[in-house]
This record gives sequence, structure tokens and C-alpha cells, in this order.
Amino acid sequence: MKLELNIQPLESWIQAKSEPLLIAGPCSAETEEQLVATAHLLAQTGRVTALRAGIWKPRTRPGEFEGIGSIGLEWLKRAKEETGLPTAVEVANAKHVEEALKAGVDILWVGARSTVNPFTVQEIADALKGVDVPVMVKNPVNPDLSLWIGALERINGAGITKLVAIHRGFSSHEKSAFRNEPMWDLAINLKTHAPNLPIICDPSHICGNRELLGYVAQKALDLDMQGLMIESHIDPSVAWTDAKQQVTPAALVEIIDRLTLRKPELQGAVKDALAELRSQIDKLDDVVFQKMAERMKIVEKIGNYKKENDITILQVNRWDEILNKRIAYAKALNLSPEFAEKLLELIHSESIRKQTEIMNKGQQGQPQEKLTHA
Ligand code: PEP
Ligand code: MN
Repeated sequence: MKLELNIQPLESWIQAKSEPLLIAGPCSAETEEQLVATAHLLAQTGRVTALRAGIWKPRTRPGEFEGIGSIGLEWLKRAKEETGLPTAVEVANAKHVEEALKAGVDILWVGARSTVNPFTVQEIADALKGVDVPVMVKNPVNPDLSLWIGALERINGAGITKLVAIHRGFSSHEKSAFRNEPMWDLAINLKTHAPNLPIICDPSHICGNRELLGYVAQKALDLDMQGLMIESHIDPSVAWTDAKQQVTPAALVEIIDRLTLRKPELQGAVKDALAELRSQIDKLDDVVFQKMAERMKIVEKIGNYKKENDITILQVNRWDEILNKRIAYAKALNLSPEFAEKLLELIHSESIRKQTEIMNKGQQGQPQEKLTHA
């Protein structure tokens, strides 16, 4: 499914000060001095293209600092006047949109907690009708690509063509090094659905700490994302929100300096060498699929046999045997055991699905089953 989005290329409305395109600024505007001083330091780096700051903050628990509110718009105006940096704020309802536009904010973004709610996104979209402002849409908190796409469609449907997606990672109950799991696949999927939609990465909210920012930023660039949004505070140790993940403007420059910019376009000998290796991969992939098809034919025969002889589909001992033997074989071939196990589980669940279909053919009320490990 290709997304029908009417979008202007990023370069047509924002010129990066330097590569990669970088939007930076504090998680929250706290005081006029903090915001303006941070903006000056960021502007002096020559690396930052736009200044971000949250003034309406969605907080998990009541009683936490919920943003400085509308007064922050005046501070953003001053920061822009003094530094020349365009400004960006998060909007979560129609009132925010109206106030931000009135105050001349240059870029609006929809936060992860808003993207999850179609009512909220539609309210924002309705408030944007007839306005030509760039809007960035963060991924929803939960790993649901449709919600992200839906939000982009609603904003685009309101006539916003300067549209960008921000990948900021996804909430997960699993313990991990990240505050929000990157789940890069979802961002890659979005790119596949909407090749003309610019995607930038927000390593700050993915990492939740300073240490991993460089790693995540590099990975985002290697996946051909078109820019970065990184939180930067004049003194992160005393930040009122997200203190652990913010960096000083000087530390931000260090991170950016260490990034390697790679080109998506290939030329000359590199292109030929890569094309040759890719054609080898293509041939091998074909063989893998042929073999899978052969395997499934045998699985079908087994299914028919089990049906005729009233034998259960799953025999745990047999499955254990397959797992152990194949994982040992995979290890000997220098494949990682985790990869081998995942692959086997995928093949096995498809085999079970197929045999279930055969066993119950003709029985009423049989739902279409999906692969369990997909
Ligand atoms: C933010 O950018 O400060 C923010 C609240 O981000 P998110 O919506 O990604 O949690
Ligand atoms: Mn933040």
C-alpha cells in the first residue's frame, strides 16, 4: 500500500545550516534566560537549523512541571529575533495551534502522546486548515504504524504539505538500554509506504540518556533519515524535564562532529561491486524461497497423513529435536543461535498454520489464522 500524500520536499522549505539537518533546543522552556542563552549557544555552533522548546508539556503524572505555557511564546520570539533561528514547539490542541501561529512560531510538532489519539490529531488538523506551516508528526507511543500514518494523513488532509515524520521510539514493557525502543523496522516501513515523506530522528527520546545519542543518531543517518532533533540545555544537570538525556550545546557539537555522513547514491566502481554482490544475494534469496516452497509441499503431505491417521499436529519431542539439531548446525555454520531459533520458529509456525488448515478443511467457522511469529 503506497500512501497518497501531497508533500513538498524538505529542501524546498528548510535549508540546513550544515549536514545533517539539526533541530535542537531544550526539552522545555523553563525561564526566559535559560531559553535565550541556550539559543545563543546553539546558534553560535553554526550547526543548528531550528530551535525547539516545549512550552506545553504532556507529563505522565499530575503535579510535575507541565510547561511554562503561553508566556514561553514571547521568549521564543525573543530567541528568534536575537539569533535568527526559526522556532519549533509542540502543539496538542487547537488553542496551542492558534497561539503558536499568532506568535509566529515557524514549525509545529505533534507529540507522541497526541499521535495516539485520532480525536486530538483531527482537532489539530482542523485548526491548521488554510495555514501554510511546516508540521512534524512524532510516532505514537505504541508501535502502531497505522496510527502514525493516520495522523500524517489527517494533517496532510488539512492541506499541510510541509510535512515531516519524527521517529522517537516506542514504549515497551521489556527492559532495555533505551527509554523508548527504536524499533527501526517501523520507521523503515513508513519510508517504504511513503517514499517522499521526510523522516527525521529524535535520538533524545529514544535514548533517555546522553551516552547513546551518538550511536542512535549515526544509525538514523545510516538508514537515510533526513535530519535529527536533539534536546540541548545550557545546564542539563538542573533541567526541569528530561535532565538525563539533554546535552549542552558544546556536547551536541561533539556528537555531531563524530557522525559519518554517508551517501545514498552510489557511483562508479563502488556501484558495480555492490551491484555484483547484490545479484549474488538475489540468487541466494531465490534459492531460499524455492527450498521453502519444497519444504511446505512436504509439510502438506505430512498434514494429510496426520489427518488420515488422526495424529496431532504438534509433537513436542519432534519440535525439540528440530530446534536442537538445527541450532547446533547453524552454530557450526557461524550463524547466530538467536537468528537460527527465530527463523525456525517462523518456519514452524507457518507449517503448523498450513497443517491446521488441512486438518480442519471443510469444518465450519474456521477463521483465517495469521502467522504467530511474524
Ligand atoms: C518532547 O519532544 O519533549 C516530547 C515530549 O517528546 P515525545 O512526544 O516524543 O515524548
Ligand atoms: Mn523531552
